[in-house]
Amino acid sequence: MVVEKACKKCHRIIKGDICPVCKSTELTANWKGYILVIDPEKSEVAKNFNITTPGKYALRVGK
Ligand SMILES: [Zn+2]
Repeated sequence: MVVEKACKKCHRIIKGDICPVCKSTELTANWKGYILVIDPEKSEVAKNFNITTPGKYALRVGK
């Protein structure tokens, strides 16, 4: 099973080595909780996190 990592910059949860949203390679397996954003324009949470791309995002990302 592939460990899901979170992007330190935009919090996107991914199963790879590069973030598809911001192209960052600063990832961490140290994250907690997640939100599923389906429609960023209608989601208050997405606005709080500055999320513009639908997907799965970590609520808390460790350092
Ligand atoms: Zn990112």
